[in-house]
Amino acid sequence: MRLFASLTERLREGLSRTRGVLEDSFARIFSRQELGARTIEDLEEVLVEADLGIETAESFVERVRDEALRGRLTDGDARLALGAHLREALKGAGAALDLSAHPTVVLVVGVNGSGKTTTCGKLAWRCREGGSRVLLAAGDTFRAAAIDQLERWGERIGVPVISQGPGADPSAVAFDAVKAALARDADLLVVDTAGRLHTKANLMAELAKVKRVIGRQLAGAPHETLLVLDATTGQNGIAQARLFHEALSLSGLVLTKLDGTAKGGIAVRIYRELGLPIKLVATGERPDDLAVFDPETFVAALVGG
Ligand code: GDP
Repeated sequence: MRLFASLTERLREGLSRTRGVLEDSFARIFSRQELGARTIEDLEEVLVEADLGIETAESFVERVRDEALRGRLTDGDARLALGAHLREALKGAGAALDLSAHPTVVLVVGVNGSGKTTTCGKLAWRCREGGSRVLLAAGDTFRAAAIDQLERWGERIGVPVISQGPGADPSAVAFDAVKAALARDADLLVVDTAGRLHTKANLMAELAKVKRVIGRQLAGAPHETLLVLDATTGQNGIAQARLFHEALSLSGLVLTKLDGTAKGGIAVRIYRELGLPIKLVATGERPDDLAVFDPETFVAALVGG
């Protein structure tokens, strides 16, 4: 299924803040008469500000140091070199969603506010548009508002939502939802989950149980366990991802809110630090603001060109 085109224009638009900051800063740095140690420091600082991570910033600066100090580098050259550097850093970072099983079960996890429910809605919409029979499951039974929000998405995009209401056992919701997916011959079931409980340990134990229950009912499921990460959360988001991965063996990440930040470089840092594929990126709140993560398209949108 080729459901997610890489949406080049949308991504360019979404990453325009980060790209703008990089372009302006590079132009400012390389327009100075005097090039020297300060040029190198400033360059490194700009890359760290864009959230590319210190290692990537340092290795890039090493790569261009000699040319820059000799005054042989223009801002355009530097951006081209940055593009090449980031393409290397992101090798292997993109991976397709595995939607080949029938039904495919996608478990969506992440802290509250990361964009989890919105991502479930967008994913369901896209697959339904592609002709798939889709179900949503309201597994965040901790918050009544989360169930309402998913039900609104369901109404809006014409996808049934399996729900048991606030306070229900999320594993029981997941159980019902898998049963419904099998009975209704669905192609895809997307399971939303809670992002906060009384403690982190409770949350992880509950999510692990939901995952086990799904697997017991349908061999090989969930086929994807995706962590939704808000691109604006920086180091905190990376620490969260480690916890979720330890508890749930994630199959990939969804990076949201790339439109609201000048720190879009975080995709590079996340991949470097976690080694998990970034399967999808989100650049807004509309149903079609979700795209596959394609490193080539991403780098072009980030550095221009
Ligand atoms: P959840 O608590 O993890 O389920 O998060 P929600 O799906 O409720 O999203 C939290 C807020 O972020 C909502 O206002 C969403 O509309 C918004 N949101 C989600 N994804 C994106 C995105 O990619 N870009 C922007 N700008 N907003 C987003």
